[in-house]
Amino acid sequence: MAFDYVSATKYFLLFDLFKGFGLGMKYFFAPKDTLNYPHEKGPLSPRFRGEHALRRYPNGEERCIACKLCEAICPAQAITIDAEPREDGSRRTTRYDLDMSKCIYCGFCQEACPVDAIVEGPNFEYATETREELFYDKAKLLDNGARWEVALARNIEMDAPYR
Ligand code: SF4
Ligand code: SF4
Repeated sequence: MAFDYVSATKYFLLFDLFKGFGLGMKYFFAPKDTLNYPHEKGPLSPRFRGEHALRRYPNGEERCIACKLCEAICPAQAITIDAEPREDGSRRTTRYDLDMSKCIYCGFCQEACPVDAIVEGPNFEYATETREELFYDKAKLLDNGARWEVALARNIEMDAPYR
């Protein structure tokens, strides 16, 4: 069998080692495909369906008119609403519970809502240590609405031309 001078030369000159090192350096300086989460986050679609929130009008009044369309359409039966008329005749919820452990994030509730009250926002960082923390009540949902209103309003506005 003839002696393979090419392979032998490559072997003694550490050709494969330098080739691997060059490949490593190429990707070391190349733009990264990964993100340094949680310090960096990727872009989210305005239609992203994350944590739920109940919104208010700019004057502070609750948007929800207790029509119960979201409760009726929810395929996971995650929403429970009680309602009664106020003294001024308007109808508002006295209870709005959302079991986030049942929710399948289908978005039907926000699609059904005639006044953009219940919405799924851009927040996806709400993991909890206990199951009970995922039983949202009205106060929690309204608090979410207040905290995320700027992003929620912007997302609804961006999506409006396609509805
Ligand atoms: S996103 Fe779907 S499953 Fe979750 S509460 Fe809304 S309708 Fe129900
Ligand atoms: S959140 Fe919207 S759909 Fe649900 S009860 Fe209130 S107004 Fe109706």
